[in-house]
Amino acid sequence: MDRKNKRKQLEKGYYKAHACHEVFTCKVCGRAVDPAGAGSGHRNHCPNCLSSLHVDDEPGDRAAGCGGVMDPVGVWVRKNGEWAVIHRCRRCGVLHSNRTAADDNPVKLLSIALQPLARPPFPLEHMRELAERLMKP
Ligand SMILES: [Zn+2]
Ligand SMILES: [Zn+2]
Repeated sequence: MDRKNKRKQLEKGYYKAHACHEVFTCKVCGRAVDPAGAGSGHRNHCPNCLSSLHVDDEPGDRAAGCGGVMDPVGVWVRKNGEWAVIHRCRRCGVLHSNRTAADDNPVKLLSIALQPLARPPFPLEHMRELAERLMKP
């Protein structure tokens, strides 16, 4: 893609982003979402349940034809210490990484981050056996 096309695409995304600067209702939890509360440019998920819709291929471009609900399935930490949410589309299975927003529900974020620890794929009591085995000289 040459630079001219790229700029054209950005302008398109810009207008789309401005078109959605109005309060909308979250399709998953029913909460009225005010995009102005995000504290940064583009809000792409609900601050309450953190769900999103599969409407973008790149953040803000509205280029995806899927429209499926995207569930928050994981949290990871970027190099600068900032948290990002992994969203997975219920309809097509695609995974997206999205920056967290200033007003994202911290309890929901934590519960997603803790899920692998709360539900380990092996019995926790085996950890003790394993630890004891490792401690033996
Ligand atoms: Zn929601
Ligand atoms: Zn999708």
